[in-house]
Amino acid sequence: MTFSLSKIINLDPPTFVPDAVIVGAGVIGLSIAWRLSQKGMRVVIVDPKPLGGASWVAAGMLAPVSEANPGEEELVRLGLKSLQRYPSFVKELEDFSQMEVGYISSGTLEVGLDANDRAEIEFLHSFRSKLGLETKLLDSTATRKVEPSLSPGIQASVSIEQEHQVDNRLLCQALLKAVYLGGGYFYQATIAELKFDEKKPLKTLVAENGIKISSPNIVIAAGAWSGDIKGIIPQLPIYPIKGQTLRVRLPESYLGYQKIIRGLAKGYHVYMVPRKHGEIIIGATVEDKGFDTTITVEGIYELLRNITSLLPNISEATIEETLAGLRPGSPNNAPILGSFATQGLFVATGHYRNGILLTPVTSDALSDCVIDQVDPAYIEYFSPNRFLKDA
Ligand SMILES: Cc1cc2nc3c(=O)[nH]c(=O)nc-3n(C[C@H](O)[C@H](O)[C@H](O)COP(=O)(O)OP(=O)(O)OC[C@H]3O[C@@H](n4cnc5c(N)ncnc54)[C@H](O)[C@@H]3O)c2cc1C
Repeated sequence: MTFSLSKIINLDPPTFVPDAVIVGAGVIGLSIAWRLSQKGMRVVIVDPKPLGGASWVAAGMLAPVSEANPGEEELVRLGLKSLQRYPSFVKELEDFSQMEVGYISSGTLEVGLDANDRAEIEFLHSFRSKLGLETKLLDSTATRKVEPSLSPGIQASVSIEQEHQVDNRLLCQALLKAVYLGGGYFYQATIAELKFDEKKPLKTLVAENGIKISSPNIVIAAGAWSGDIKGIIPQLPIYPIKGQTLRVRLPESYLGYQKIIRGLAKGYHVYMVPRKHGEIIIGATVEDKGFDTTITVEGIYELLRNITSLLPNISEATIEETLAGLRPGSPNNAPILGSFATQGLFVATGHYRNGILLTPVTSDALSDCVIDQVDPAYIEYFSPNRFLKDA
């Protein structure tokens, strides 16, 4: 079941002073808006194209372990906290919205195709084991026992049982509905600038169309575009990282993939995420191309070449969709979360490759920030004020 956006979006600004305004209706902005409305706040969400960003394009892997890289230990900690929170978050959202979000506990198999890929997989296994993360190294035979469709050439794999997936599009729609049911007001506009006077309680957002909206609390959650809003100090060091993806469908006789397969194929990263009803998401390129979201022959060729070298039977699939999205990149791949020095101004962005995973913990943390006007200790590392010295 889907929930129609056109029924709930307003072309006119609100005629009331909201308790909070959220800039951006991706998973991050919507989940914060939902939490705030649950806590009794009247919320306005401003976006020119709700769900028009990365949240709709994502693959929905909840993968703090297979995304864990050296130097990102704080991010891993936050990711694990969010992963743990997922089941209760999903239950609450599904109960409230009366919509399913396709949460599946399937585990990940991370495979290496050639000897160099195997060496990289073994290195990551050892790094993650040192962090206390549960991963199991499997040889070629054991790997193909777990997933018989894998190429006989696969050298080794790491099994990560604790990782899961959610259908990000269903999650987006359920959040949209939950915000609406909670009394949220959607206003279709692009915010250009923030204006405030430290002595006055209300801050004002100015849209590109000149319309102004004032509120005591403003949350910036505009994904890869968050750094473009003027008047925010410090300016947010957010940049777009393009990812091209494919959605394909295998003939019924081939169905039966359970696990997320991530892999290295001759040094190239690729993954496939099998959904409940036969859809498979293949991703994703990682490109520094500014705000470009075109689909390129090179990008799609690379994805198909890499995935079919790991899973030859994917070549039997029909292509249903190609789409590119912009991940909100940030320094050290760490999100930017919490309050600015200016009272009543908050941010939740820079989730890069992990925004779907980090949705529960971000919405918990940011709604606490707004309600209590104090940041919870577990997001201190991610504070926007870490960039103040560079301002
Ligand atoms: C190919 C790909 C695969 C991914 N796979 C995964 C995955 O498997 N697991 C995972 O955890 N994460 C994944 N991610 C990352 C994840 O999608 C993002 O981190 C997450 O969606 C960010 O959510 P967001 O709400 O911050 O941004 P977005 O979803 O981009 O939403 C931002 C919103 O802000 C709006 N906006 C922009 N500018 C303005 C403005 N000036 N005024 C008002 N509104 C504005 C936009 O219209 C948009 O709707 C993937 C991303 C990509 C691109």
